[in-house]
Order: sequence, then C-alpha cells, then structure tokens
Amino acid sequence: MKDKNMIDEIIKIKEEKDIKILAHNYQNYEIQQIADHVGDYLQLIEAAKNIDCKTIISCGVKSLGETLKIVSDKNVIIPVSEAICPMNKKINIEELISFKNMHPQFTIVSSLNSQVNLKAISDICVPTSKAVEIIERLDSENILFAPDMNLGNYISKTIKNKNVMSWTGHCTIHDKVTKEEMINVKQKHPDRPIIVHVQCKEDVIKLADYAGSTSQIIEYVKNLKDNKVIIGTETGILHVLRRLNPDKKFDLLSPTLICMNMKKTSLEDVHRCITEGKGEVIEIDENVKLKALNSIDNMMKHL
Ligand code: SF4
Repeated sequence: MKDKNMIDEIIKIKEEKDIKILAHNYQNYEIQQIADHVGDYLQLIEAAKNIDCKTIISCGVKSLGETLKIVSDKNVIIPVSEAICPMNKKINIEELISFKNMHPQFTIVSSLNSQVNLKAISDICVPTSKAVEIIERLDSENILFAPDMNLGNYISKTIKNKNVMSWTGHCTIHDKVTKEEMINVKQKHPDRPIIVHVQCKEDVIKLADYAGSTSQIIEYVKNLKDNKVIIGTETGILHVLRRLNPDKKFDLLSPTLICMNMKKTSLEDVHRCITEGKGEVIEIDENVKLKALNSIDNMMKHL
C-alpha cells in the first residue's frame, strides 16, 4: 500500500475506533503527519490527560507509552515493543535503591523520559526544559539525578547552591556529538548559530550558541533573526522546525544524531496496530504505577 493510502486509512480508522495518536518530536515525518499531537514528554502528558478517546497509540520509545499510561489510565498501545531507550536499559534500579537507603539525605530526581521503575523510586520527575528551575526550588540540598550524566552535569554547573550528583548513564545519541565536530562545523559555517541539546557533553555545550531541551530549542529558534541554523539534537526535530519556520534553513550538526529506537516505529507498524491490533498494550503493576504517578504529580506541583 502506498504511504498516502496508508495515511488516509489510518486517519479514517482511528476516528472510527476512537483512537488518538501521540508522537514524540523525534518520530519519523510520516508518523508526525498522522499524529493528533506531536511534542516532548511534558506536552504529550498534557495532551494525554485532556484527550477524549478510548485508546492512545504512543509513538516514541516504551518509556513514553508507560508515562502516558500512568497519567491517563487509558488503554495505551505502543506499535513496536522493541523501541526502548538504551539509556533506560542500562540503569541498575537495585543499585539505585541501595544508594537511596544508604543516603536518605538525597532527593532522587529522575528525568521525565525515564522508565517506569525509575520514576517509581524517585521523589520527583523533571522535564528537561524545567529541570534546573524545579531542582533549584526543592527544599533538599542534596540531589541525585538520573539517568543522564550529561544533563546532570549541566544542572550541577548551573545550580550553585546545591550538591547535585549524577547517576551513570547517558543518551547514546547526544553523547556521540564531539567537540571536534563542533569546531569543524563552526569553521565551515561561522555565520550560522549552533543550537544543541542539553544532553550533549559539556565541551560541546560550551561551544554552542544555545543549549536547551527540544521545546526550548523550538522556542529559541522561533525568535532567531538568522535564517540558517545548525541543529544539534535528534534529526526528527527538523520536521517540526521546518513546519514551524518555513522561511529558515536547518542543517543537522552531526550525521550521528539519529536515534534508531525512536525510528523503529514505521507507518506500517502503526497501520498494523490500528487495523490488526498488533503492538504492545502497556500494563504496569498497580503499586509501581501509583509510586511513579506520585513522582509525576510532585513534578506537576513544581511547574
Ligand atoms: S534520543 Fe537519547 S534519550 Fe531519547 S530515546 Fe534515543 S537514546 Fe533515549
């Protein structure tokens, strides 16, 4: 079936079956086209809470589906079970629980894009865009941030009056960008601003004109006078930026900025999910879900 026919059929069937599709900014262009909402975790949480439908098809990685299940308690399906963020796969929850027991003075803060069992043992979640300001406002002096060391390091350097420690782990995509790549691109395009994600390494961030989360990058670019911009985050964001800024030209900082897990979901997978019921229905243990919801609710109170 041609893409156009498949898109038309998906749109028709999702209406008939009372399904909404929520897609992360890093999804393929075709997936963004069929989505009812495209955004980062925080924007998709807001959408999932307010959306009126029987079923949500979550297009991203598994932790997004889990997060949407926790906040909406709707039937949430992910088209591809293997779409799992490698950063989340690596974290050892048992070790983190031991740390928490041995160091009760630390507040455990996790990224909103973390897996459900990390959220469940955290005191609070934070979206990347608000991580610094929420942590700054917490009563605790001692923070353990997980699971992204680069983001943890950025938070620690930005907040002066707290002891922010990072758990080991990083986004394998943003961490791949090198200082040498930055220097080369700067030399080649000295007139173009370079905007990177805060999950990049410190030496990369230092050379950038701006560093932020995906939503911060979108907002920053909107107000830029320059019409040629270099983007240092996952390539899917370029679809969003081009749609919102048709007069600007965007180039990717590095060819390595492609998250294969975010790209595992194809139009065919969503079509199979919607027509044949293929995919994984997100099920979360009730106790784990309640604890994870508690850390998300705590975040909401601090927004
Ligand atoms: S972009 Fe990074 S944090 Fe996001 S899913 Fe891919 S590896 Fe995980």
